[in-house]
Amino acid sequence: MTELGLQELEENIRLVKSRVEQAARLAGCKPEEIHLVAAAKMNEAARVQAAIQNGITLIGENRVQELLSKYEQHAYEGGELHFIGNLQSNKVKQLIGKVSLIQSVGSEKLGRYISREAEKLGICQDILLQVNIGGEDSKGGLEPVHLEPVIHSLCVLPGIRIRGLMAIPPIAHKHGENLCYFDRMRQLFIDMQQKRYDNVFMDYLSMGMSGDFEDAISCGSNMVRVGSSIFGLRPYMR
Ligand SMILES: *Cc1c(COP(=O)(O)O)cnc(C)c1O
Repeated sequence: MTELGLQELEENIRLVKSRVEQAARLAGCKPEEIHLVAAAKMNEAARVQAAIQNGITLIGENRVQELLSKYEQHAYEGGELHFIGNLQSNKVKQLIGKVSLIQSVGSEKLGRYISREAEKLGICQDILLQVNIGGEDSKGGLEPVHLEPVIHSLCVLPGIRIRGLMAIPPIAHKHGENLCYFDRMRQLFIDMQQKRYDNVFMDYLSMGMSGDFEDAISCGSNMVRVGSSIFGLRPYMR
């Protein structure tokens, strides 16, 4: 990593943190109530470790293979790791015990699978349920109408604990375009909180990325997943 790269990374982290704090204040919550997850895809282990050295505490990865490779290289030491990407059942086993939160559980089947694998290791895996809030065919996640029945069936499983909801709205082309989705997510989140299911903790509402995290926070997000604003544009974005 070049010196310039490192300086830029430090500066980006400072800037994103201050934007998160500002958005939190505007939304009437305490800055420390908003969890900043640095989405690290396509950034090498040294760069991820440098982010942790510079005050990032949560790292999100969205590919199992990439996560395992960086894990071997001790990229995440001193930080906490979340899985935020599409997850196939046959890769679940490799994640359990390494990640503190699987944010992207978009089907009952996957939830059951995670529970089974976690049980084998004698642990309880925290998860978020991913909601396909834009109703896009290309994206994973539960349809909003399926959320309640799925929570019902998953909340009794001993190997998982539902900690909240996650959403990836459609790509916004204009500023503010995702506010309607964020707002719908806030409503769903509040509805699910009010149901007070046993063993379900609606603590986290994970939404908002580089292009829209301030809007997401204004709609009640308390967990933002920020990649390019921290690490710089990924190769395919340049
Ligand atoms: C890459 C990624 C992000 C961050 O995207 P940026 O636009 O670079 O901030 C957030 N969430 C998920 C699931 C991602 O894969």
